[in-house]
Amino acid sequence: MEKRVEILKKHNIRITPQRLGVYEILLDKNKHLTAEAIYRKIRVSFPTISLATVYSILELYYKKHLLNEIRIDFDKSCFDIRTDTHHHFLCKQCAEIYDIDLHPCSALNNKEVDGHLIHELQGYFYGICSKCKDKSNL
Ligand SMILES: [Zn+2]
Ligand SMILES: [Zn+2]
Repeated sequence: MEKRVEILKKHNIRITPQRLGVYEILLDKNKHLTAEAIYRKIRVSFPTISLATVYSILELYYKKHLLNEIRIDFDKSCFDIRTDTHHHFLCKQCAEIYDIDLHPCSALNNKEVDGHLIHELQGYFYGICSKCKDKSNL
């Protein structure tokens, strides 16, 4: 709890209970959540908060590099508290998004392709997740 406050302070974020609440939801779930999903969860503790407020908090955190926006699913964007470079996998069956730690692409880091200097690479992978694959094998 203290640590979380410290992290936000370190990023020059003025702490409000709502801001802390959004941050804790992202940390505790450690999942890729949509703004709507965060909104549904935070309303349990803050019934009067608006979706617009949730969006502005997410925008603030994004600008402060505290979270990443994932657009693996074209219909919605998700927010990821993990900001180190990693890839994502979307299951076409259950729509779950998984983190993938795959490093074959690290060779491309800070290399040039067609004259463009690459700083970072994030891959989106699509298919059937291990859970759904197991179910269909039964
Ligand atoms: Zn699945
Ligand atoms: Zn992720």
